[in-house]
Amino acid sequence: MEHLTKTYKGGKKAVDDFNLSVAKGEFVCFIGTSGSGKTTTMRMINRMLKQTSGTIKLHDKDISQMDPVELRRKIGYVIQNIGLMPHMTIGQNITLVPKLLKWPQGKMTERAKKMIKLVELPESFLDRYPSELSGGQQQRIGVVRALAADQDLILMDEPFGALDPITRESLQDLVKDLQERLGKTIIFVTHDMDEALKLATKIVVMDDGKIMQVASPDEILRHPANQFVEELIGHDRLVQARPSITTVGQIMLKNVASTTPNKLLRDALREMHDRRVDSLLVTDDEKTLKGRIDIGDIDYNYQTATSVGDVMHQDIFRVSSSALIRDTVERILKRGLKNVPVVDEHNRLVGIVTRASIVDMVYDALWGTDDSRDDTDDQPTDQEKTTQPAATRGGDAK
Ligand code: ADP
Ligand code: MG
Repeated sequence: MEHLTKTYKGGKKAVDDFNLSVAKGEFVCFIGTSGSGKTTTMRMINRMLKQTSGTIKLHDKDISQMDPVELRRKIGYVIQNIGLMPHMTIGQNITLVPKLLKWPQGKMTERAKKMIKLVELPESFLDRYPSELSGGQQQRIGVVRALAADQDLILMDEPFGALDPITRESLQDLVKDLQERLGKTIIFVTHDMDEALKLATKIVVMDDGKIMQVASPDEILRHPANQFVEELIGHDRLVQARPSITTVGQIMLKNVASTTPNKLLRDALREMHDRRVDSLLVTDDEKTLKGRIDIGDIDYNYQTATSVGDVMHQDIFRVSSSALIRDTVERILKRGLKNVPVVDEHNRLVGIVTRASIVDMVYDALWGTDDSRDDTDDQPTDQEKTTQPAATRGGDAK
């Protein structure tokens, strides 16, 4: 596809300068938000829609110059969730497209036998009707039907869109297996990143008619081209795919010095003294983070206030334990904070990140596990002593 553009009547530019080459045997997945132009692109490839400008070539031949019958022989199209025809036998269902392409009967019978073998069902099923098969068997027949006409290129537009996750997974396995065994080239639209990562040899990420990135699943996980792609992949998959990525949870200190709002200032003072820190985080009994109390607050209010809740600072800056260090460090350093509380998804206090632990991490990143730092490794730094006690490290910094 070269400089492919589609502007619908009314002015909507659904596809905008789309450039892509697909090699034989590739499994290409288009993924993107709804309305990003995936279906429009597919329909242009199949010439169901005429592009506004640009060229599509199949085997170096401009498809607009091809005879429609020849084109249908070469390109198959599977639309979203079309079931089997209830009044046709399984054999007739499988050879629906070959029949439209006017294959001779003998060739169709052979093909139907080959296809049913591929899904490990008995040949006798070819004479049955869809209702005589289980739902799962029908789904598998649907998949081989897409491959039955032996076209070079098969376009599949969200074929498993509305299926339950288990059926979906088994059909993904089937389509991937058949694609590899039969050496087919497939362009497959999905809005499910897991599906794309599982099936594709090449993923095309689209947004608002434009290609954001074309890359292998591995590459896309390692080097998402921009924030849109990163968001589409999602935080969890990024962290899983790149163990080198560090989350706040991995470097935070656990065992945080904390108190509760109902405690007397006197108790808080003693806690600070015992733990050699100059501030405490305040949580309720469920560990939900409520605020912070500093030694200065106690000093100033000692005569008038009695409980921690009276004088604590609320709405304090916090970070999530699943936040990426990369995104967090700068914010912490910029604010000039000595330490930042770390919370889980329920806003419960789970740890603390100190400036010192960030220094450690940057040091690790720059120097790796250099032997020369062994002597300093297990000792808390001065900064940690004055802010929060050095506690168990949440994990290795790398
Ligand atoms: P996707 O398949 O990625 O969800 P589509 O290709 O269906 O996206 O649509 C791309 C854009 O083109 C959307 O904004 C959609 O509203 C618009 N669009 C699709 N079909 C038509 C049409 N026949 N006429 C006008 N606009 C259309
Ligand atoms: Mg669509």
